[in-house]
Amino acid sequence: RPTLERDVVIVGAGPAGLMAAYTLKKAGKSVAVVEARERVGGRTWNAKVKDMNGTEHFIEIGGQWISPDQTRLSSLVEELGLTTFKRYRDGKNVYRAPDNTRHTYTGEALPVSDATNAEMEKLTDLLNAKVDQMDVARPWKMPDAAELDTISFRAWLQQHSDDQEAIDNISMSIASGMLTKPSHTFSALQALLMAASAGSFSNLVDEDFILDERVVGGMQSVSLKLAQYVGDDVILGSPVRQLNWATPDESTADALNNISSDVRNGVPRNGAPGQVTAYADSVIVKAKNVVLAVPPNLYHRIQYVPPLPREQMIAHQHISMGLVIKVHAVYETPFWREKGLSGTGFGGGHVAPEVYDNTNYGPNSVNAKEGEDPHGVLVSFISDVHAERMWALSEEERKQEILAELAAYLGEEAMHPIAFYLSDMAAEEWTRGAYATSYDLGGLSRWGHLQNEPTGPIYYACSDIAAEGYQHVDGAIRQGEIAANSILEQLG
Ligand code: FAD
Repeated sequence: RPTLERDVVIVGAGPAGLMAAYTLKKAGKSVAVVEARERVGGRTWNAKVKDMNGTEHFIEIGGQWISPDQTRLSSLVEELGLTTFKRYRDGKNVYRAPDNTRHTYTGEALPVSDATNAEMEKLTDLLNAKVDQMDVARPWKMPDAAELDTISFRAWLQQHSDDQEAIDNISMSIASGMLTKPSHTFSALQALLMAASAGSFSNLVDEDFILDERVVGGMQSVSLKLAQYVGDDVILGSPVRQLNWATPDESTADALNNISSDVRNGVPRNGAPGQVTAYADSVIVKAKNVVLAVPPNLYHRIQYVPPLPREQMIAHQHISMGLVIKVHAVYETPFWREKGLSGTGFGGGHVAPEVYDNTNYGPNSVNAKEGEDPHGVLVSFISDVHAERMWALSEEERKQEILAELAAYLGEEAMHPIAFYLSDMAAEEWTRGAYATSYDLGGLSRWGHLQNEPTGPIYYACSDIAAEGYQHVDGAIRQGEIAANSILEQLG
């Protein structure tokens, strides 16, 4: 294994790690980005799925949408010379009620009874008011943070409403829709952070806002462009297995064990440069600082010498990935549009509680010309316990049940795609779930304040520890840039 010497070593070539590398390199620092997989992009991944004639259709296995509040990602997309296009949204949406009756509607409000609508509005107002009290960068500082962190999101909703349909629809947007965990497994505080990271709960439930634009050529193009800039200093197929680190003043992890009281008492932890050696499968990198740009559920896959401070070792065990299957179904045409439907459908509590038109544009199209792909693409998401049940079925049973879900929204034609693919990030060694990580009950108020604090020369960067853009590519980009700028301040 060759040994490289760099100013900074970055572990992980997802959007966060590559943004850190790009920022550092632009400022004249030398970097090495060491990536476990044979590709860059992490949870963003452009791919092709074949139909029965062997024709390839473009899909995005991972993250794809950008919302208007995700301003750092939008400006970077522009800076990198990439362009975006809007999600198709003309026509009527479909709502599947709990009794599986199908209703079409336009506008934002779901076609529920007046009583359920009033309950949903009440819960939305309550959530928006709570979000207004939260500093998204410091949710643990909210006056009732600890209290909100002891109650599950579902129990909190049940405290404020006894309308099951209203609770299912509100909880869907954060539980299956974002954290991809059942709403009884994460706290009301964690739910509020998710909403606050998008600006408000109302933003989060507005699909035209939150699922606004896609990158022409796919979201992975952001990472591919950043990696192009970093060049040969991106090393693929080389998991980092061990990280030796030492602080400049020779203080050890033992001395850093009081990290929590320091941070709570406002003592800055400056992450001064020290000595770091990253041992990866194909390379050893010696550097002054390291950016750990991997999701927090994977921190423990690396051996630290000396070990990380005890509070971090405990905290990291209370952070886990959600589970979601992203469904891709390609059709000869976007048949739903001919029926005056947008392709958007919602049904809180159903196996597939959401479906959208995900038709491709521009260079992604089969005809590779400007304009839209003539084929229609639907995307849907199946989360947590429903995803577990789906994976337990045979491949054919799974496909038929999922297609029947799409058909329940958009009609029988949905049963006959020409290509079909299920994204399975939970089976990926270097991700282990989707979309992102969150704390279990009580974790955010106990340990959230530690997640962005460097440990000696070790910095952390990932969408899963972001404030704005939490669990999104925008958050990853912000975190990568913040870590790089903090290191630049230290290195001078
Ligand atoms: P990652 O993308 O996970 O990158 C981390 C990298 O570290 C990976 O490449 C991994 O291989 C590498 N790594 C891990 N361990 C090691 C090791 N020991 N050594 C070396 N390398 C290592 N976001 C949106 O904004 N919009 C969306 O529409 C959206 N939809 C999504 C749909 C799905 C199905 C999924 C899975 C995610 C979605 N997301 C979406 C989330 C978005 O993709 C992530 O927030 C983003 O990719 C996180 O970037 P990151 O760099 O923080 O982490």
